[in-house]
Amino acid sequence: MSLNKVRVRFAPSPTGPLHIGGLRTAIFNFLFAHKNNGDFILRIEDTDKKREVLGAEKYIIESLNWCGIKVNEMPGVEGKRGPYRQSERNDIYKKHILGLIEKGKAYYAFDSAEELEWHRDDHKKKGKTFIYNWHNRLKLKNSLSMSSAEVESLINSKGKFVVRFKAPSKGFVKTSDIIRGNSEIDCKLLEDKVLVKADGTPTYHFANVVDDYEMGITHVIRGEEWLPSLALHYLIYDAFNWGKPFFAHLPLILNPNGKGKLSKRTGENAGFSVFPLKWENDGLRETGILPEALFNYLATLGSSSGNTGKTMSLKQLVKAFELNSVVSAAANFDFEKLKWYNHKHIQEKNSEKLLNDILELMPSLKDLDQLKLIKAIGLVKERATTLVDLWALAEYLFFSPKQYNEKARKKVSLEVVKKLIVLCEELESRNENKTNLLGLIKNWSNENNIPLGRVLISIRIIVVGEPSGIDLDKILSFIGFDEFVLRLNSFVNSAF
Ligand code: GLU
Repeated sequence: MSLNKVRVRFAPSPTGPLHIGGLRTAIFNFLFAHKNNGDFILRIEDTDKKREVLGAEKYIIESLNWCGIKVNEMPGVEGKRGPYRQSERNDIYKKHILGLIEKGKAYYAFDSAEELEWHRDDHKKKGKTFIYNWHNRLKLKNSLSMSSAEVESLINSKGKFVVRFKAPSKGFVKTSDIIRGNSEIDCKLLEDKVLVKADGTPTYHFANVVDDYEMGITHVIRGEEWLPSLALHYLIYDAFNWGKPFFAHLPLILNPNGKGKLSKRTGENAGFSVFPLKWENDGLRETGILPEALFNYLATLGSSSGNTGKTMSLKQLVKAFELNSVVSAAANFDFEKLKWYNHKHIQEKNSEKLLNDILELMPSLKDLDQLKLIKAIGLVKERATTLVDLWALAEYLFFSPKQYNEKARKKVSLEVVKKLIVLCEELESRNENKTNLLGLIKNWSNENNIPLGRVLISIRIIVVGEPSGIDLDKILSFIGFDEFVLRLNSFVNSAF
């Protein structure tokens, strides 16, 4: 067992925006690092330049940042084990591949793409599958089957070649995973995987193992899709004679109905994004999800440690986090559950902080009186599921309704409204204290035998536009007497 300081890494390939699944992996790594006073490293695995998408790296960093995931080492925040982009580490891979070839654990292979295709077809015709490994490697074109003079001349003539791993021809690889337990893989079945491609760049497997070793990674926590590669990774560590990190492969995140891996399309059809931030279309941030709610929900996906049925702060999640509590069964992504967490986190967050979140989302609200906004947030937040709702629920406290709900409008008595306008004129001329406006209106309706229910619903529809909203008393004291009179008049004007 390693006694080194815990060091974990999140190692995305910048081939697109960060997906919910990737973010969950980052969160589990981050929680584990915090729990153990360790380091959390972001490594950009950009060896496949053809698949790289412009802006993806920036998006990944912004998403982690938005979720409050602090990174100790990454591109731009260099530690001792950098650089943190694989495309900048070629010298390191070169040094190690030469070492492996020298040890006889890897070899040069010169077979052309056409030749390999021919072998594949030929095997297929015979009902077999072509695997480049111990049983045929001496019949193929490589540095194991050719003389060193031939090999040297092929390398010097700048012909194309790859470097392959020399997988053992017998024995078993015994792998161990914190979540999945132990497995045994028969080496005979393994392929001699390409470690260095014809363009001189490393493949995922090679760069990944070299970097985890060079960066002092103690625990590899990653998605289940990498579990089939674990045996090969073990063999590469063994070939170098390097100590291995611990491994934990996280369960998949499935679509809400449990069918298939969570996909962008299913999200779109069900009306939610599978991306934290805007990428072409709106992300979860733009739909009004709070980062702490997303973090909290994702921390429960596949793990029982954060799954308490209550909201949890980062501190509580760190305390509760256990790799041993991660389950091996896949977890369904449930947008309704995420909204439940969001609703709860909105209620628990103080209104000043919620204001900052809202302003980030809707910068035009900066023009409004900020103290009033904080007060309005406090009045409505109990009802909001998202930040977008929060503003929709508070809007009438700042602006008169743009339109009135057609059905509700019929409930307003124009007669009553006109009388209310007269009452307001009187209150104004008598210079009456109007702080308790609703109280004054109630007395007036009582004294003049005007049905109170009628008065109240009329007022609500005039000030809100809908038969909804918070306590009328609170609405009237928030908007004030002058604004109330303005809204009465604009209703009357719009009614003709
Ligand atoms: N670059 C791989 C990915 O995009 C990382 C796999 C790993 O963490 O080892 O998922």
